[in-house]
Amino acid sequence: WTKETVAVVTGGNKGIGFALVKRLAELGLSVVLTARDKQKGEDAVEAIRAQLGHLAHNHVHFLLLDVSDHDSIKTFASSFKAKFGATLDILVNNAGVSYNELDENSVDHAESVLKTNFYGPKLLIEELLPLFRFSSSITRILNVSSRLGSLNKLRNAEVKKMLESEELKEEEIEEMVKKFVRDVRNGTWKSEGWPSYWTDYAVSKLALNAYSKVLAKRYNNNNSNNSYKLGGSGTKLMSVNCFCPGFTQTSMTKGKGTHTADQAASLAAILTLLPPHHLPTGKFFLLRNNTTF
Ligand code: NDP
Repeated sequence: WTKETVAVVTGGNKGIGFALVKRLAELGLSVVLTARDKQKGEDAVEAIRAQLGHLAHNHVHFLLLDVSDHDSIKTFASSFKAKFGATLDILVNNAGVSYNELDENSVDHAESVLKTNFYGPKLLIEELLPLFRFSSSITRILNVSSRLGSLNKLRNAEVKKMLESEELKEEEIEEMVKKFVRDVRNGTWKSEGWPSYWTDYAVSKLALNAYSKVLAKRYNNNNSNNSYKLGGSGTKLMSVNCFCPGFTQTSMTKGKGTHTADQAASLAAILTLLPPHHLPTGKFFLLRNNTTF
């Protein structure tokens, strides 16, 4: 990996995102740390520079990005283009929120979580597609997801069947998300079989996992488990995978967890940087809580 390899990490001002930017820069990549708050983002870049020394000076850059705001996503894409051109190799959709301390779900929270955790990565990928350096065989997206969004948390057989289908379409995922918000609004989300624990967060990650599967299939024209195996020249191929960092000590868990953000990030970095011939696509990687570091 060289300084020519360009990675973008969302939600990089703290937690797993911060640790991942630091790790990728340490490994020699050029990394764009993004955050929705300018001051927090700039402070994070300074903190990484202070920790890594002169190496990080030219390797870590800051750009403003609120993934829940489409205008901010568009502005970010133009700023990235102006600064780096169409050179994006790696996108890590890490930014996320949850409000699930309460048993009850509110429409406001459901909408906000879905906007950040599902529509955010989706719209960002769409805006950044022209900026990916598809000519390289390292083009890849890692979506930081959660085991709470696994299909086995879903008790609605019809939705489950739809998500399991090899013919799953993007529009069906959006319809599913809209139905969930309607069910929260109508107070029927329990009887409709949505996940019973951290419900709106789980649905947002369920939708993100499903969208990743659709994208992986779209950019893998040979239907093998590895995007790059048979790609002819000129074919747009990339790998799209999801990663659950496990129960990690960050603000999201109020500092609780079985491991640190640095530990989660070092595994995320290994996954992100797998060599092309070992890099699968359309997979969900899980950091188990009993992993020994
Ligand atoms: P943190 O709360 O520590 O960090 C979340 C990051 O996302 C912050 O930088 C936050 O910025 C940013 N963010 C939130 N909303 C937006 C937005 N609209 N636009 C841009 N950035 C935003 O949590 P973690 O580090 O734990 O979470 C990272 C990812 O890991 C998330 O996707 C989470 O769902 C996932 N995850 C975490 C687990 C855990 O146990 N910690 C377990 C499974 C998955 P700000 O400071 O401005 O709020």
